[in-house]
Amino acid sequence: MLTENQLRRVVALRRALHDCPERSGQERRTMAAIQAFLSQNTALAVRDMGGWLLATHWEGDDLPAVGFRADMDALPACNEIGARHGCGHDGHSAMLCGLGLLLEGRRVGKNVHLIFQAAEETGEGAKRVIDTWRALSTLDAIYALHNIPGHPKGTLLMRRGCFACASCGHIVHMTGRPAHAAYPGDGANPIGPLCRLTLEIPEMIADILAGSDRLLMRTLIGLNAGGEDFGISAHEGRLCQTLRGHRQRDIDALIQRTEACARASCRETGMKCDFEIRDAFPDTTNDDALFDAAMNRFQAANLPVRLLGEPMRWSEDFGWLLRETPGVYFGIGAGEDCPGLHTEGYAFDDDLIETGVRAFGALLGL
Ligand SMILES: [Zn+2]
Ligand SMILES: [Zn+2]
Repeated sequence: MLTENQLRRVVALRRALHDCPERSGQERRTMAAIQAFLSQNTALAVRDMGGWLLATHWEGDDLPAVGFRADMDALPACNEIGARHGCGHDGHSAMLCGLGLLLEGRRVGKNVHLIFQAAEETGEGAKRVIDTWRALSTLDAIYALHNIPGHPKGTLLMRRGCFACASCGHIVHMTGRPAHAAYPGDGANPIGPLCRLTLEIPEMIADILAGSDRLLMRTLIGLNAGGEDFGISAHEGRLCQTLRGHRQRDIDALIQRTEACARASCRETGMKCDFEIRDAFPDTTNDDALFDAAMNRFQAANLPVRLLGEPMRWSEDFGWLLRETPGVYFGIGAGEDCPGLHTEGYAFDDDLIETGVRAFGALLGL
């Protein structure tokens, strides 16, 4: 456990990070503050990996290696700085620095890598870690947490299997041929095919799920076609939808069917179609064996744990890291009355720091 003095230093760091919020991909001052804190307070080897920081506690070759990841970015905001820590990543980074203090002078029989990741909110940061750090895929385990309002303060929130949904934006773009409104048959109008496709997708979802209780859902974001010139038959349109589900595989199957269906109706009507995926986050799914081990560690450390019935509907870019190496993602309750993440009233609660650091430490037997 952190001493009172150590906890005070971590809280001061959290407040300093809170006061220099930086948007995804621009976390320069944040990285400098974390780097300075770790070099002043620990013997960890800290490396700037080009947009993210790696701090390593090294005990020797041929030992198991584990990673702990915190996100550092803030949200865009309409204030003087243009950013605000509305998701609590200032707290997550401070907690990981707290684990650095806890490791100081200790041996845990493992090499431990603290990963301070940029750009979680845009889904870009985890990919940068994957692209720039080969050793990631050789880790035996990787862990991360997120504070979650609406749950009792300081309670660890755990879920076997899927913790948070996969999601992506999907665009179907159809291009036909314009025609005089008096002779629409001379053109190719995408409005009918786009509307039919939009209405067919719920059936595709039911078919893919085949009665299973997994979540797979589509949210209609936009349907735009044609214009307001009453002399011209529409020749272009697009459907924008957000797809979300417990399993990336289900989303992939839905995309495949949607695109096959769009291609078939475009072939029939002599139109062209193209597709785009944006903001893709895979599912954040925990490794069963590591999950069981983590549960045992938390219980042995007398940390309060609550099992979640349903996965979170939101997505996390930690899912990308879990595709490279097995791991566990868990939540820490931020209090039933705490305003929701990303809302105006939200701010990270420093009371969570001690529990977060204890939870990380427990996973190392500290
Ligand atoms: Zn967020
Ligand atoms: Zn977040």
